[in-house]
Amino acid sequence: MSERPHHGVALKGEIALVTGASRGIGAAIADELAAQGATVIGTATSEAGAQAIGARLQAAGGQGRVLNVTEPEAVDALIDAVTKEIGPISILVNNAGITRDNLLFKMTDEDWDLVMGVHLRGAFLMTRAAQRHFVEQKYGKILNLSSVSALGNRGQANYSAAKAGLQGFTKTLAIELGKFGVTVNCIAPGFIASDMTRATAERIGEDWDEYLADRAAQIPVARAGEVEDIAQAVSFFVDERSGFVSGQVLYVAGGPKA
Ligand code: NAP
Repeated sequence: MSERPHHGVALKGEIALVTGASRGIGAAIADELAAQGATVIGTATSEAGAQAIGARLQAAGGQGRVLNVTEPEAVDALIDAVTKEIGPISILVNNAGITRDNLLFKMTDEDWDLVMGVHLRGAFLMTRAAQRHFVEQKYGKILNLSSVSALGNRGQANYSAAKAGLQGFTKTLAIELGKFGVTVNCIAPGFIASDMTRATAERIGEDWDEYLADRAAQIPVARAGEVEDIAQAVSFFVDERSGFVSGQVLYVAGGPKA
C-alpha cells in the first residue's frame, strides 16, 4: 500500500464509471479508484460479471452493472440511472475492449465491425452521454484506453485502427471540452498480462509462460506489464491536480516504444 498522504482520500466524493471492469485492466482500474475513495460503478456484459464486480466493490460503496457499450439506449440509460440513483459521475474510463485478430486478407466484415463497435463506437457513445453531465458540472475526467498497437501490429488492422482512432477522438475532445473543466487523455498500454493477451497466445499456439518470457525479453524494463501498471497511470490522470494535462497519449509499455 502506498504511503502517499492522499492515498485513500484523493478521490473521496467522486463517482467513477469504468467500462469492462469484470477482469483484467478494467478490474484493476476500478480497484485503484475505489482504494482512492471514489464510488466506482464497473460494467460487464453479463449479469454474473456485474454481480462479481458488485461483490468486489461494495465495501467501498461501488456497484456492478450490465452494459454493452455498443448500444446507445443502454449507454444513455446507464448514465442516467447512475446519475439519479448514486450521484454525478466525474470520472469516465473507456476501457471495454475486444480483439478479433487476423491478417487483412482473412479479416471478415464482422471482425472489423465488432472491434470498431466496442472500442470506437463504444467510447463515442459513453463519452457523449457522460459529457452532458461533465459540461453542466464544469468538471470531468475522461480516459480512453488506446494501445501500442495504434502504431501498427501485424494481424490487428481492425484493432490498431480503432486504437489510433481513439487517440484522435481524445485530442479532439480535449479541444472541445477543455473550457468546461473536462480533461480527456489516452493511456496506451504495451504488453499486459490479461485474458486478452492469453487469448492471443492461444490463437498463435504458444504456451503462455513461454509467450510471456518472449515478450518480456523484448521490453526494456525486462518484464511483462501487470494490470496494476495501468491502474497506476490512470490515478495520475484522474487526480484533480492533473487539470492542466489534456489531449495526451501516455504509452505505458516498459520502454519508449512498442
Ligand atoms: P480483457 O481482460 O479481455 O477484458 C475486456 C473487458 O471488456 C471485459 O470486462 C469485458 O466484459 C469488456 N467488454 C468486452 N466487450 C464489451 C462490450 N461490448 N461492452 C462492454 N464491455 C465489454 O481485456 P484487457 O486486457 O483488460 O484490456 C482492457 C483494455 O485495455 C482494452 O481496451 C484493451 O484493448 C486495452 N489494452 C490491453 C492491452 C493488453 O496487453 N492486455 C494492451 C493495450 C491495450 P466481459 O467480462 O463481460 O466480457
